[in-house]
Amino acid sequence: MTSEQKPIELPDTPADQLPDEILAKEFQAAMDEHQLSLYYQPIVHLKSGLVAGFETLMRWNHPNRGFISPAVFIPMAERTGLIVEASRWALKEAIRALKRLESHVGHNEHIYMSVNFSPNDLADESFLDEMYNVISASDVRPTQVQLEITGDLLRGQRENSKTILGICQKTGLKIAIDDYGLGDPNVFFKYMDDFPISAVKIDHLVTCDMLKIPEAKELIMAIISEAKKRDITIIAEGVEQKEEALLLRELGCKYGQGYYFTKPLPERELTTLLLQISAFNEHLK
Ligand code: C2E
Ligand code: CA
Ligand code: CA
Repeated sequence: MTSEQKPIELPDTPADQLPDEILAKEFQAAMDEHQLSLYYQPIVHLKSGLVAGFETLMRWNHPNRGFISPAVFIPMAERTGLIVEASRWALKEAIRALKRLESHVGHNEHIYMSVNFSPNDLADESFLDEMYNVISASDVRPTQVQLEITGDLLRGQRENSKTILGICQKTGLKIAIDDYGLGDPNVFFKYMDDFPISAVKIDHLVTCDMLKIPEAKELIMAIISEAKKRDITIIAEGVEQKEEALLLRELGCKYGQGYYFTKPLPERELTTLLLQISAFNEHLK
């Protein structure tokens, strides 16, 4: 083998500086060799402290590089198309985990798993079949699965996304717009009418400004007011302080998610936590 033909490995290069070609090869191996896992972050009902659902967040523990941030590998997986396989795995795993959790903490048909999906997922022609097959092969109800889609995605592939999401909604799946409240309000407020959605997730960058910047609080109030008119649920992300949780509740925001309640946890730690506390009510007194 000449030096030109040698496989490039770059073990010392930080993952965020690797070319897509190399990171993609390693990510494919990660999927084949079970290096991926899901962490779960509770979505908390701000009046009762009860857990309404869990957002699933993908983690990659690389055998040599350690944990690689989703902010690095998700965009690469989107650019290279590998996200479709990763999302399929995440959906199946989230559903299996929900059943396992129920076996420990009791069955509750209202608790849901909220799974992130990317532009390529919805564009993939087998997306709907796959979704249908995975859910019907399990004994979770479609209402126990929420799809999280970022607003940018909806803007990029408007008509196609609308059709696909409409079908998902008819089958009972929940649909949430992620990273809501960023960018141009003339654009994101229209999402509420233009797409069949059941929830908006206020971005953590808006939540973290709420106590300091009056405009951020006003924006949250406007989002809540518009969403209520349309029977759309509000979930505030990035809740890091008690004062934020209490103010959100006072403003009429129904659900919160963030480090104040707990950081995203692996399944075992999540199960232990849920066995210790059945609700986050102490956090909300
Ligand atoms: P996201 O969907 O907006 O997920 C929320 C991010 O906020 C997560 O980062 C979570 O760990 C973090 N977070 C949770 N609580 C707090 C808080 O109180 N304050 C702050 N500042 N952040 C908080 P993470 O896990 O690093 O994921 C980053 C992004 O990667 C996600 O943002 C999502 O866009 C993407 N991602 C993660 N898992 C998946 C997946 O399975 N599929 C897809 N398509 N994307 C994923
Ligand atoms: Ca999300
Ligand atoms: Ca988000």
